[in-house]
Amino acid sequence: MIANTAFLIGLTLGLARDAQAWTDGMPFEQVEHNFYRAAQQGLEATLAWTDGPGGAAIELPAGELVRRLLPVARRGLEEWGVEPAECEWALSPVEVRAASGQTGARWQRAALTALEPELGRPRALSAMLQAYLERAARETPVDSWSLPAREGRVRVAIAPEVDAVPESAEEFLRWLGGPVLLRQPGRNRSRTRAVVTLLHGNEPSGVRAVHAWLRSGAVPAVDAVFVIAAVSAALESPGFAHRQLPGARDLNRCFVPPHEGPEGELAREILNLLDSVGPEALVDLHNNTGRSIPYGVGPRAGSEELALVSLFGDRYVHSDLRLGALVEIAAGAFPSVVIECGRAGAEAADVVAREGLARFLGAPRLGSRAAHHVQVMTEPLRVEVLSGLRLGLGEAPAEGVDLTLAAEIDRHNFDRLEPGHRIGWLAPGAPWPLRARGRDGRDVSHELFEVCDGVLRTRREIIPIMITNDPGIALSDCLFYVVRAAAADPA
Ligand SMILES: [Zn+2]
Repeated sequence: MIANTAFLIGLTLGLARDAQAWTDGMPFEQVEHNFYRAAQQGLEATLAWTDGPGGAAIELPAGELVRRLLPVARRGLEEWGVEPAECEWALSPVEVRAASGQTGARWQRAALTALEPELGRPRALSAMLQAYLERAARETPVDSWSLPAREGRVRVAIAPEVDAVPESAEEFLRWLGGPVLLRQPGRNRSRTRAVVTLLHGNEPSGVRAVHAWLRSGAVPAVDAVFVIAAVSAALESPGFAHRQLPGARDLNRCFVPPHEGPEGELAREILNLLDSVGPEALVDLHNNTGRSIPYGVGPRAGSEELALVSLFGDRYVHSDLRLGALVEIAAGAFPSVVIECGRAGAEAADVVAREGLARFLGAPRLGSRAAHHVQVMTEPLRVEVLSGLRLGLGEAPAEGVDLTLAAEIDRHNFDRLEPGHRIGWLAPGAPWPLRARGRDGRDVSHELFEVCDGVLRTRREIIPIMITNDPGIALSDCLFYVVRAAAADPA
């Protein structure tokens, strides 16, 4: 802006004393032609000029004309008392632009070309102007501007006011449209707490709790951010039925680098956003697929993490497993826990999420006082069904399957199962069906289970958690985890 003004005023002053000779030598049609060519083609325009005041008509590229006229503008400014150093400072961007060819207009066109394939024209125009204004505000010359990066997939917005929040959680999701980060200002603006939910599209308690919180009109004690991720998977018919979109990968297995594919990119973007927020604590709200009491999971079991868990329940699984989940990365940066609120679709689970969230956002200080109420389980072993096995569910051995899981197996979450407890039935001739692995990857399934007369049962006492009674999930993810109670803290 300063450069353009300096060039215009300097030229006016520099050319003024020969104004008559310039105007005599240049018919109006030529000036009008120059004006339109310059507007249309910028530095690439060929412009009519004269070889000095009153000289012969010539044509030359706009960039070349700018270079010829710069000394005229400089002289004009200096004759009117502008310091030479200041002339140099004000005019040098014009010189650089003419040499590099990068003008504001060219930058806008290049930016639009970069953004349009991803965003479509209307959104690309708006994103381009936004990026233009941001760069202009930095007051760096246009030739040094970078092109805007492709817009991220997570929309960042201010949380809606009470009246603007749609009535149902489903309408709220449709209104969100895709992954978002919503910010809600708190009473104390100096700290922030983060809520992540819907990393799995079939686990509705968290987003229902966020929706209820926003509908309540309550003001959080400190700033809050809400990351709501798998919105499209949740909306996919019949609603809250898909862990991820068909053909997509499980988002909560994609947070560990390399962040490949669309899910990896989304995971990385969420991590970057959370990093820039720098929350004092994070809770990631999930549901179980089977019946369960609420409990926390995470890679750290300090008093801050246990205090977070105590807002929702009284069990914590201190897990050293590396699956690629958000909490594995986030917990290294700030106190972070997963909360498994209970079975998806169960009213009790929604209540756990809603009440826990209100405590998490409402408490002026999170503290660590309640940490000792939480019972810690540790060293989870992941019990998987070997791939290729046909799995069923029933009260007796089912026909045509290799392994029949005892129905209502999910009743036993967090129970101590005695040796000999029946897990299911193995068909005659079927191979050993399970694998149980901890952090070191060693299969200890034969230490935990045995098959006697076609019955698969426990060989020693185990505490199973996260039991699923959905054969599809048992095959694609795992059957359950086995944990052991951590030794009581002597302190
Ligand atoms: Zn989940």
